[in-house]
Amino acid sequence: MSSIFTKIIKGEIPAYKIAEDEHFFAFLDINPNARGHTLCVPKKEVDKLLDLDESTYIGLMAFSRKVGKAIEAAIPCDRVGMTVIGLEVPHVHVHLIPLQSMKNATFQYKEHMTPELFEETAKQIRKKL
Ligand code: AMP
Repeated sequence: MSSIFTKIIKGEIPAYKIAEDEHFFAFLDINPNARGHTLCVPKKEVDKLLDLDESTYIGLMAFSRKVGKAIEAAIPCDRVGMTVIGLEVPHVHVHLIPLQSMKNATFQYKEHMTPELFEETAKQIRKKL
């Protein structure tokens, strides 16, 4: 069965899309640690980061860097943090999180966002790509 992220990539379920190229896809995390929290995923469905082939791994980092720079330009923050966990969704994803403090990195604190704010946030980030 396809992962929830493969369904997003295929357009079978909705997401607030940020960017896409031949191999990678970025969209806003639906339960964000901070406004602008974005997930970057390879289109190839692989569970664990370290099981990616080397070129996909390096490509994912380059794609995440580009998206992270756009987040940093669009969202007021001290810096953009990068985390890979993957305990919930078995499809590699890089979390890019605008950080003001450690609170935003803990995955305990969550930011409430309305659909309008998600849309506006995605638009602001896309403009900086
Ligand atoms: P983890 O696998 O522990 O890295 O966490 C999975 C992340 O995916 C969580 O931050 C979720 O909020 C996020 N997530 C799960 N389903 C969706 C979805 N449909 N759209 C956007 N983000 C999602």
